Amino acid sequence: MKAIDIRGLTKTYENGVQALKGVDLCVEQGDFYALLGPNGAGKSTTIGILSSLVTKTSGEVSIFGHSIDTALEKAKSCLGLVPQEFNFNQFETLEQIVVNQAGYYGVPRRTALERAEKYLTQLELFDKRHHRARELSGGMKRRLMIARALMHEPEMLILDEPTAGVDIEIRRGMWDFLKDINNDGKTIILTTHYLEEAETLCRNIGIINSGEIVVNTSMQELLASL
Ligand code: ADP
Ligand code: ADP
Repeated sequence: MKAIDIRGLTKTYENGVQALKGVDLCVEQGDFYALLGPNGAGKSTTIGILSSLVTKTSGEVSIFGHSIDTALEKAKSCLGLVPQEFNFNQFETLEQIVVNQAGYYGVPRRTALERAEKYLTQLELFDKRHHRARELSGGMKRRLMIARALMHEPEMLILDEPTAGVDIEIRRGMWDFLKDINNDGKTIILTTHYLEEAETLCRNIGIINSGEIVVNTSMQELLASL
């Protein structure tokens, strides 16, 4: 099963910028995949289209076999997004933030509270569940967004520059957590501009530059070719 199947994807923004110029990209279920590339390459645009925050110009996109054109809700339910910017309400408590998220996906409240305990504990945030999000450090906010993305138990997690601005100790903790959930079967895709991060975590890698995939290979082969 393919977690992601992208064919001939293009995106031209209203201002005429061609952010994607015909991207083909497949990610298998269970993979840990890095989309690597410099600033402005098209990583966020790709992720934005996958998570339906950005509309595509042309091309085909399927998520776990569900086309975003014909089965958007099913496609969306397979995917948990951890965006780059902190986009939660800073005045809500951690528990409110994750429980409300589950609510958007129709998860019953009792189940949502159980999951909140589970995922906040896994991300070492459970003690803070009644604190407002604004009181958290940057690394904790990042982990909160991971917990939030897991609340509807999607098959796949997509993280946009997950460790940008996170100090090294917290970064290692996040890496270990992501490896653990990948070992338990969750497909993980992340964007990064740190080769080291991709190297530490990922099995397969795509390199995007100026809206085109220029390399698509296993991490092992990439390192052997350097
Ligand atoms: P990356 O995530 O790799 O840094 P992006 O996908 O954010 O790259 O950007 C790809 C290109 O599209 C860049 O040239 C960027 O300036 C442009 N771009 C991104 N978002 C918008 C937007 N909302 N409107 C116009 N141009 C955009
Ligand atoms: P930032 O971290 O960029 O300073 P804020 O803390 O101002 O962001 O806001 C973060 C989120 O909280 C945003 O989604 C915003 O809409 C929301 N928000 C801002 N002010 C209030 C408020 N007074 N009451 C409720 N929500 C707010």
